[in-house]
Amino acid sequence: MVSLEEAVVKGLAPDRGLYMPERLPRLPEEFFRRLPEMSLPEMAVEVATALFGEDVDAEKLKALTEETLDFPIPLVKAADGKYSLELFHGPTLAFKDVGARFMARLLGYFNRDNKDRTVNVLVATSGDTGSAVANGFLGVEGVRVFVLYPKGKVSRIQESQFTTLGQNIEALEIDGSFDDCQALVKQAFLDKELNEKMMLTSANSINVARFLPQMFYYFHAWAQLARTGADMENVVVCVPSGNFGNITAGLIAKRMGLPIKRFIAANNANDVFYEYLVTGEYRPRHSVQTIANAMDVGDPSNFARVLDLYGNDHAAITAEISGCTYTDKEIASTMRQTLEEEGYLLDPHGAVAFRALTEYLKPGETGIFLETAHPAKFKETVEGITGKEVEIPAPLAAFMKGEKRSVPLAADFDEFKGFLISKA
Ligand SMILES: *Cc1c(COP(=O)(O)O)cnc(C)c1O
Repeated sequence: MVSLEEAVVKGLAPDRGLYMPERLPRLPEEFFRRLPEMSLPEMAVEVATALFGEDVDAEKLKALTEETLDFPIPLVKAADGKYSLELFHGPTLAFKDVGARFMARLLGYFNRDNKDRTVNVLVATSGDTGSAVANGFLGVEGVRVFVLYPKGKVSRIQESQFTTLGQNIEALEIDGSFDDCQALVKQAFLDKELNEKMMLTSANSINVARFLPQMFYYFHAWAQLARTGADMENVVVCVPSGNFGNITAGLIAKRMGLPIKRFIAANNANDVFYEYLVTGEYRPRHSVQTIANAMDVGDPSNFARVLDLYGNDHAAITAEISGCTYTDKEIASTMRQTLEEEGYLLDPHGAVAFRALTEYLKPGETGIFLETAHPAKFKETVEGITGKEVEIPAPLAAFMKGEKRSVPLAADFDEFKGFLISKA
């Protein structure tokens, strides 16, 4: 067993395994009675206290939770019996803002007494993670962030969100693929010399401080649905999943007492988890490219956490989680149809989840799906599919006006290592 501080600062356990909370407290019934009346920050402070209260000073925990959630996460009716939890109202317009902002503040807190310790966060990104992490950590004292991204392979909107910030954020433009970026980061964590010279950590969803706070918005979704007078015994939550950090947070919320009847893990063509549900066998493989590219994952790193939560019991897992998989064509037709029939514009990731609800919701059930990003983040794709212009929200437009600054590097570990050491 390790402290929360060690799990957050190190990211990964020494045996390369993932950290999990030692125990998951069950919230009292009285909390759930009050839940429908609670605001997002009020609720989150109580959940955070139950989870982290032993490791973080109460006032600080309250402050950092409230700061994390200073934007709304509304539940919007998208169709009859199907509600969209809009997770795209944060600074980078995707759900990863929640975890990244919480983790940044928690790391800053743990680092408060180590004024001469700099924690270096390495993050490889194909787009969304880099922007959320960079913006979450911007200006956090004692923390420096290196964002590695593949040259020419992220959209201009995405690139502007981590290359224009300056301060403690450095963007490294790698002449290679996303896999090359990830390989450089992984190798850096394993490099003895580098780890002696500088303190390195990860801000991917393997870090407990990034994935656990994502449970806040499941409680918030439930609270908002309760206010509509829906039957709260039959709530189904559908999560568009890639690395499975987001859905794992929901499963943990359920374990802490949130009355969600069942979950649907919606996949694009990368369907290793779906295959596991159907066959009981887990066969990781290379990812294939899709229009819901933040879910293009062939070996979800949080699969181990799902197994752990259910004691490796396939029957227990399939009793609470079902799955599905959709092609790009199906995703696109769902986006077109939902806009035409319901007047609701989905992004490609949310569309995967919405479609799953239309196909698998049973009579009497009410569905919530997680709308994980704003459609404008995938402007060209969305416009190409719907034939309608997507307006860029003001915060995104503001990023695009900034001046791009990045360091070009080859996809070569020695060059990357030399660069990092020059910064130590
Ligand atoms: C990261 C991401 C996902 C997948 O979330 P996981 O936690 O990796 O399963 C889905 N949609 C969007 C828009 C994302 O950025």
